[in-house]
Amino acid sequence: MTTVYLNGTFLPVENACISVMDRGFLFGDGVYEVIPAYGGNLFRLHEHLNRLKNSLDGIRLANPLSDSEWETILNEVLESNRPLAGTNNDQSVYLQVTRGSAEKRDHSFPEAVRPTVFVMSAPLPDPDPALTDCGAAAVTLDDTRWQHCNIKAVTLLPNVLLRQQAKDQNAAEAILIRDHRVIEGSASNVFVIKDGNVLTPPKSQQMLPGITRDLVLKLARQAELPCKETDIEEALLRTADEIWLTSSTREVMPVTRLDGNRVGDGSLGPVWKTIIALYRDYKAAVRQGKAQ
Ligand code: PMP
Repeated sequence: MTTVYLNGTFLPVENACISVMDRGFLFGDGVYEVIPAYGGNLFRLHEHLNRLKNSLDGIRLANPLSDSEWETILNEVLESNRPLAGTNNDQSVYLQVTRGSAEKRDHSFPEAVRPTVFVMSAPLPDPDPALTDCGAAAVTLDDTRWQHCNIKAVTLLPNVLLRQQAKDQNAAEAILIRDHRVIEGSASNVFVIKDGNVLTPPKSQQMLPGITRDLVLKLARQAELPCKETDIEEALLRTADEIWLTSSTREVMPVTRLDGNRVGDGSLGPVWKTIIALYRDYKAAVRQGKAQ
């Protein structure tokens, strides 16, 4: 039985209910985070809570909890669900804050309404070995989303439709293009490797500032790989030596086919092999409580 946290109470997921008047339900008026925990230790917690703050600021909603209150709740949910998580106790925590439920459905913000706070966790398997052993297929699609993609909003319908379009073409991810530039994946950030250089688009309102992206950049810089945060033209993506997609659950996923064509020579790239080894070492350090 999965335990969740809802508005101050820990309870079985089957018993957790919210009002049909909740603005998350009616308007998608809320934000969320997904945080991995390895061996029960939260991964990049400080960075995730910082991004949560930025998302809440972005929708003009006060943070209902302090960082230490968040940490206590997340750890309690993880601990409660530990028996479901297998021997390595890897889990992903999902948290969501909505603007709460008001008496009437009205677009403008309600007054004196308590936000809804929800936390759940689920076992976190290693990324699909079929993808890390042979590489994934990706397709390019036009970015049809709004102008505030830096906010991790629960309003994910465009991302859902784009990901499904990719899946319908037997691809693991859609790489989104706006004005001939690479932006990000439907649920991941994009890296391009060209002539030994590690390139990724700079942060902007058009993309989510991925926590995995930042860690990959940090690890690559520590390893003295030449890195650049720079606009990436669609044409460069099509001549890339390697393409990676990063996210908390997929880690660093190598893309070996783009729109049906081989990326580089179509095999796993040497720079990816370097970065994934560093990433796995970092994960192991988190599991042992030696890094966060
Ligand atoms: N971009 C989008 C649109 C995403 O949904 C995600 C994953 N939630 C990411 C990037 C990657 O972010 P992170 O590395 O923090 O998981």
